[in-house]
Amino acid sequence: MSDIFESLESEVRSYCRGWDTIFERASGSFLYSEDGRGYLDFFSGAGALNYGHNHPALLRPLMEYLLSGAVIHSLDMKTTAKRRFLETFHELILKPRNLDYKVMFPGPTGTNSVEAALKLARKVTGRTHVLGFTNAFHGMTLGSLAVTGNSMKRQGAGVPLTHASSIPYDGFLGDDALAFSWLRSALADSGSGLDKPAAVIVETVQGEGGLRAARASWLRELSDICHQYGILLIVDDVQAGCGRTGKFFSFEDVGIVPDIVCLSKSISAFGLPLALTLFKPELDLWKPGEHNGTFRGHNPAFVTGAAALEHFWQDGRFEQKIAAVAAQLHEGLRLIADATEGASVRGRGMLAGIHYSDPKAAGKIAAESFTRGLLVETSGPEGEVLKTMPALTISATELRRGLEILAEAAESVTGQRIVLKTVA
Ligand code: PMP
Repeated sequence: MSDIFESLESEVRSYCRGWDTIFERASGSFLYSEDGRGYLDFFSGAGALNYGHNHPALLRPLMEYLLSGAVIHSLDMKTTAKRRFLETFHELILKPRNLDYKVMFPGPTGTNSVEAALKLARKVTGRTHVLGFTNAFHGMTLGSLAVTGNSMKRQGAGVPLTHASSIPYDGFLGDDALAFSWLRSALADSGSGLDKPAAVIVETVQGEGGLRAARASWLRELSDICHQYGILLIVDDVQAGCGRTGKFFSFEDVGIVPDIVCLSKSISAFGLPLALTLFKPELDLWKPGEHNGTFRGHNPAFVTGAAALEHFWQDGRFEQKIAAVAAQLHEGLRLIADATEGASVRGRGMLAGIHYSDPKAAGKIAAESFTRGLLVETSGPEGEVLKTMPALTISATELRRGLEILAEAAESVTGQRIVLKTVA
């Protein structure tokens, strides 16, 4: 069927190809197409909808704000909505975690946050080189692409991607002992040919690159090396942050304090564009207006972002809820993976999936899931990982239903019988 999406919209479109229906409404963990069919959402806007679709605790204040005649667009001017967001973020997120960060609004997307982080790291250290990791994903603009692993995405740059190199992520070499031996030796040896980097940028869980989750000990060692050599540590928490892996920041459990943190996706909590770059106060060497932009903090996003922090992050109850659904998700994924030889569960918290040794299996299971009413995507360089990201607010019943659909889809693709009976 040819339609306006195919005739007018560029070939670059992607998600709509696998999920070929027209979505009209959404509520909680469900999207509804124009023909009235409900789809359970295990995709969550690639992590932009951690609290589900149209959560009433966010929709209400947004509607009130929009109808009140309040300011919508204001560049980086002071507004009531921005003050409330900053105060709430400070009181409920930074202060209780003893995190002393300045907050920068770099532009509305994840890649804007990463570009600002890289630019600041280079400016502060006076060095140009940055280290990223195998299978990393940091965004589509040139600086972010230079530290992104995927060769197809890199090729799209059309220019050489410079001033960055890729080193092995946790598990890439398959040998724990090797983890940082090259990096340590290269930094210590002035003949190694490695220019001392301004920064290392890392995801604690690789959302797009195959759901590898770095071990806490590996992240701590990385942090130690950065301290030892005066290299800035940037954690890109665009996808793994905002509760996705269990705590607000994905590095909280790990015992590291990054120099710079990138946040976007669910920081607005409602699917509205908003990004932050957080950094230690001593790094705040920007000159006024040195990193500018028209959309650096949108007031409706401040309203929903502050409302979400107040609704979900006042105390530890939401973290307990995430822990419970994450345990259910992992148990279900494990049972599905166990049925297929060579399949294994990857990820952490509510950013988890199944790695299949047959690189085609995950894509087929995702397609079968869609026909059964479940949105789920794939991850990894060959799309070899089935990636689940349910809303953190999902009910146990909805989660069970989604796991059942996944199990049915996996059965139809692999021919292996799957029994989910122990999943709550
Ligand atoms: N960093 C990470 C870890 C991401 O997962 C993404 C998006 N998938 C980005 C950066 C880029 O964010 P955006 O698409 O909003 O530019």
